[in-house]
Amino acid sequence: MSNKLSDRINSLTPSATLEMAAKARELRASGKDIIGLSLGEPDFNTPDYIKEAAKQAINDDYNSYTPVDGYVELKEAIITKFKRDNNISYEPSQIVVSTGAKQALYNIAQVILNEGDEVILPCPYWVSYSDIVKLADGTPVEVPTTIESDFKMTAKQLEAAITPKTKMLWYSSPCNPSGSIYSKQELRALADVLQKHPQIIVVSDEIYEHINYGVTAHASMAEFEDMYDRTVTVNGVAKAFAMTGWRIGYIGAPSYIARACNKLQGQVTSGANCIAQRAVITALVESPERINYMVDEFKERRKIILGLLNNIQGFQCNEPEGAFYVYPDVTAYFGKTLQGVTINNASDFAMYLLEYANVATVTGDAFGNGNCIRISYAASEENIREAIKRIEDALK
Ligand code: PMP
Ligand code: GLU
Repeated sequence: MSNKLSDRINSLTPSATLEMAAKARELRASGKDIIGLSLGEPDFNTPDYIKEAAKQAINDDYNSYTPVDGYVELKEAIITKFKRDNNISYEPSQIVVSTGAKQALYNIAQVILNEGDEVILPCPYWVSYSDIVKLADGTPVEVPTTIESDFKMTAKQLEAAITPKTKMLWYSSPCNPSGSIYSKQELRALADVLQKHPQIIVVSDEIYEHINYGVTAHASMAEFEDMYDRTVTVNGVAKAFAMTGWRIGYIGAPSYIARACNKLQGQVTSGANCIAQRAVITALVESPERINYMVDEFKERRKIILGLLNNIQGFQCNEPEGAFYVYPDVTAYFGKTLQGVTINNASDFAMYLLEYANVATVTGDAFGNGNCIRISYAASEENIREAIKRIEDALK
C-alpha cells in the first residue's frame, strides 16, 4: 500500500525512541520482563502543586479554544521565566506555545526552510531533528563530534561546515543524547563564527535546562545581544516538570518567526490544550527550585549507572553534565559474535540487548553517531541496577 502514500511519508524514518518504547511495550504485553531504558521520560509523577492548578482550571471552566499562540497569562509566565532563568527579555509577540517542544521545532523548520537549505546538526543530536528538517525539504548537515571533545562541536568545526546554503544551526544543551552542556564561553566562540554569516538562524533547544548537575552553568545563545535577533529559544515542561504527556512546549523568537509559527499552527492544530496551559502557568511562575528533588535523584542515579557501566569491559562513557542519558561508545563490541549473534553496529548491539538482556536502549545511529547506544536513567534505581546486571551477563 505504500505506493499510495506520499514520497514524504515513505521516506520518513520513524522516531527510534518511540519505536523502541513501543517494541518494549509489545514484548512486555507478550509476557517478557523487559526493562525500558529507551524513552527519555521521567519516572516521577507531575508535582502536586501543578496538578492542583489543572484541577482548578477544569473547575473554573477553562474549556474553550485558546489563542493559537497560547493564553496571555501563560505567555506572561514564559516571559517571566526567560527573564528570571536566562536573562532574556521577550515581548508577548515573540512567544508561541505549542503542543510540546516537538511541535515548536516542527513549526520552526516549516516556517524557515526552503528546499535545499542546509541545517547544521552537531552529532549526536536529538533523534527527531534530522527528520523534522527533511519534512521541511531542508538538508541536514551532520557535524561529527567525539567522546574526547565531550561530544561538543568546536567553533572551527562550525566554520568548516558552513556553506552559502546554510540557513540554520540546531543543537540541544544540555544535549539529548550525550548530556553535554555548552558553557557560555563555548557558545560565545560559536557566536563569533556566526557573526560572519548573518543569514544563519540558531535554534537553541533548552528543554533539559533544569536537569543540570552543577558543573557547567546553563547558558543561552539569545543572551548574547548580537545573537538575540536570530536565535529561537525552544523550551518545554516535559522533562523538568515530569509532564511529558501534558504536551506543552514554547519558543521565544524574533517576532517575524513567532508570527509565522502562529500562522502555521492556526492552520494545523490551533492552540495547545487549555487545561495543560493553565497548569504550566503554575509550573513556570513557581520557583524552579521546587523540582530540585527530581534533579537530585537523577544525579544520584547518574552516579550509580556510570559506576556500573564503567565496570563493564567495552563500555566507554563520557560524564553527562545534564539531562538523564548516558551515551556509551560500544565500538569495542563491533565485529564480535555473542551467543551466535554477530554485532556489526550499534543497532545490532541495541537489538542484542533487547533480546538477550531484556533491556530496551536506543541505537546511537538514531542520533547521528553510530558508535554509541543511548541509555536513559530516568528509571528507578532498582531497575537501573537490574538492567545493567542483565547487560553485563548478556555480554559475558
Ligand atoms: N527536544 C529534545 C532535546 C527532547 O529530548 C525532546 C523529547 N521530548 C523534545 C525536544 C520534545 O519535547 P516534547 O515532549 O515537549 O515535545
Ligand atoms: N525526547 C524523548 C526521548 O528522546 C521522548 C521520546 C520522543 O519524543 O522522541 O526519548
